[in-house]
Order: sequence, then C-alpha cells, then structure tokens
Amino acid sequence: MKENTYTLALQQLSRVAKKLKLDPNIHEKLKHPKTTLIVSIPVMMDNGKLRVFTGYRVQHNIDRGPSKGGIRFHPEVTLDHVKALSMWMTWKCAVMGLPYGGAKGGVTCDPKKLSLRELEKITRRFTTEIAEFIGPRRDIPAPDVYTNPQTMAWMMDTFSMHSGYAVPGVVTGKPLEIGGSFGRNEATAQGCIFAIAEILKYLGKSIKGATVAVQGYGNAGAFSHKLAQAEGAKVIAVSDSKGGIFQPEGLDYAEVYRHKCATKSVRDFCGARNITNGQLLELDCDILIPAALENQITEKNAKRIRARLIAEAANGPTSEEATEILHKRHIPVIPDIVANAGGVVVSCFEWAQNLMGYFWTEEEVNRRLKDIMVIACQRVWKLSQEEKCDLRLAAYMLAVKRVGEAARIRGIYP
Ligand code: NAD
Repeated sequence: MKENTYTLALQQLSRVAKKLKLDPNIHEKLKHPKTTLIVSIPVMMDNGKLRVFTGYRVQHNIDRGPSKGGIRFHPEVTLDHVKALSMWMTWKCAVMGLPYGGAKGGVTCDPKKLSLRELEKITRRFTTEIAEFIGPRRDIPAPDVYTNPQTMAWMMDTFSMHSGYAVPGVVTGKPLEIGGSFGRNEATAQGCIFAIAEILKYLGKSIKGATVAVQGYGNAGAFSHKLAQAEGAKVIAVSDSKGGIFQPEGLDYAEVYRHKCATKSVRDFCGARNITNGQLLELDCDILIPAALENQITEKNAKRIRARLIAEAANGPTSEEATEILHKRHIPVIPDIVANAGGVVVSCFEWAQNLMGYFWTEEEVNRRLKDIMVIACQRVWKLSQEEKCDLRLAAYMLAVKRVGEAARIRGIYP
C-alpha cells in the first residue's frame, strides 16, 4: 500500500461528508485518530544480535463502542498506512451495525524472514508495549495480513500474564481451544458469499450456475472458491502471487487446494490453462472476487473488466477512478467494507461469546452472520437506488452518518 493511503482515506471522508452535509465540527473530529501509539520492540534475534522493530496501534474512533481491528506484520507497514486502515475499520464496523469503533495495528517486519521464536518475541513484546491501551472493554485486536490464530494466542497469553488471570476477550481470531469461535476461519469468505447471493437477488440473478473468478488463494480467496462451489457456482479461474489458472468447465476446490498445498502455487494445475493475474481480472465471468491485494482494478484495466458483478473480499482492491468507471459501465461493486466484513462480524461474535462465557454452534454463528450481511446489503442497496450512486458511496454514507450521529449525541468532552 502506498504512503498516501491516509490522504486517500481523508479524501473519501471529505467526499461523503460533503454529500451528507456533515456538521463541520464532527467532520473535523473524524479526521483525526483518537489515539496513536508508536512503540519500539527490541528483540534478541536467534543470531545473538539485537534488533529494534517499530510497532503501531492506532485507535481511530470509539464513539460507538470499544475499538476493533487487526494486527498486520508486513515490511510495508507505516504509521500512515495503519491510520488509514483504522479509519476504514470505523466505517466497516458502523455499516455492519457492530458496537465498535475502528482500530488497526502493525509491526514493520518481514515474517517470511523470521523464525517462529523471533515472531513470538516480537508479538509478546509488542503486546506488552500496547497492553495499557487494549482490553475487552477498550480495544480488541485480531489477525490481519501475516498474523494468525497462533499470533492471537501469544497476545492473549501475554495480556493474561500481565493481568494475573485469563482474559480471552482481549483478542479475537484465537484458536478454538482458548476461546475462539466456530466459523471464524471461513467468516470473511462466508460473509462475501452471503453478500453476493443477496445482491444477485436484487439483480434478478442467482449464484447457482454463475461463473466466478477469484484472485488470491489465501484465507479470503481459497474459502471463497470452496463456498462459491458449495452454492452451485462454477469457479472458472483462481490465482495466487505466482499467477493463475483458467478452466471453463470449472475448477474443483478440493483438487486445486491439494495442488496448492503440494506445490505452493495454483499454477500448472492438471487440465487448466495458466494465465496471469491481469488476465484473470479481465475474464468474461458473472462474478469477480478480488481477494489478494490493494489497487488491482485501476483506471488502466477498469474499461476491460467483463465481470457482471465484483465483490471486494480484499481491502481496497479497486481505485477511486476505477470505481467511477465501473459505475458508469453498470458493473456493481460490493465494497470491501461490506463484502469482507464477515471477518469482523464473527470476531464480534467471538468477543460476545468470551464475555458471556457461553459458546454457539457453527450453525448459530453462520445464521447470525447471514442475518447481519443481508441487513447491511439491503440498506446499502436501497440507499444506492435512492441516491443513484454506487454501492461504495452508499455504504460510506450509512457508516459516516452513524458514527457522526454517535459523536453528536455523546458530545465533545469536556
Ligand atoms: P492471505 O495472506 O491468507 O492470502 C493472500 C493471498 O494473496 C495469497 O494466496 C497470495 O499468494 C495472494 N497474492 C499475494 N500477492 C498477489 C498478487 N500480486 N496477485 C495475486 N495474488 C496475490 O491473506 P488473506 O487473509 O486472504 O487476505 C487477503 C485480502 O483479504 C487482504 O486484502 C485482507 O486485508 C483482506 N481481508 C482478509 C480478512 C481475513 O479475515 N482474512 C478479513 C477482511 C479482509
């Protein structure tokens, strides 16, 4: 992600504030993160040398509840980057009606070049440095790019050791054994499939028999393949960082997944044609699911997109210019803050279950997830029809209005 990500986030907010005629005082408040932490993380590396990493935790807003958002371990993590992501979390939680504000955290590091022991040390020291600012009633981290349930287990354990008792609700995305929720692993893709099915309904179409292309084959992408197939869709193309594969008769999830595990790539899958990621995005298909990186659909390729519907499983895969081009071409885009919100919705369920000390079945989790996805899609769709605008602008309008109202009602302290 580029350095100017925060500028983009501010521009988006300004556009929506103008459209909503938002009180300038509230707009001013929402431009600024509530809390910005920068911490040094000294780590004795396996080779006996000390390295100091930099970590961030940004809490953008707490007007609607405690802040919530993932922890990213990536070489490109910067303060601006984390600030933008924390603001987007505020909008995502608000549009989905979750009782949270937004936050995000990160450590600038390359996990691919670190041992498990070094990763554990980074995680535990980072957690200690931000411990005073997180907690089940305060700010609840979760996994993001290159962090996972094990990272969350280390965070939960470190926080609990400082507290003197077990605090499972301090993070979500934990392993089931220590208070994780059923359904959390597949939640992002599951939410995306629910959203697709709902929007297709409004378009008079069905996911059954639809052709699908998925970019990215990690948590969001691979599970999107699995769940789209389970709904009767035909997944004709998938890809990862090394490239993609295309098979007009449809790719079987179990076989492709096995091939990916064995060879570390989806490429060279028996019976399929190798294609590039660029070619995958421009395939003739009913549904395109970008589930990899930011900035994949831009003004350069938006004119050549042939999908009939796009669902953003990834965060920020479509540029502002591309959104406009696609809207003019009548290609609906289910925006990231709705399409990939299944992850934070089920994180919210995990947190609620931890606070209650009582757990739901997978069926219960998915039923509740579906209810929330359907309601969000209905509201965003209705507003986009009334305002004659794209789904992204409608989703942002709903979100910013909700946060703005909460800020107004609470008032400015003191
Ligand atoms: P992941 O690390 O599990 O997988 C990422 C995938 O993208 C991998 O298959 C990788 O090979 C592929 N990839 C990397 N570079 C690529 C490139 N240049 N072209 C095509 N593919 C490439 O990550 P994830 O959790 O699946 O996250 C993917 C996206 O979904 C991110 O934007 C993330 O922010 C978003 N997201 C994830 C969740 C979640 O719960 N996992 C929730 C909300 C949003």
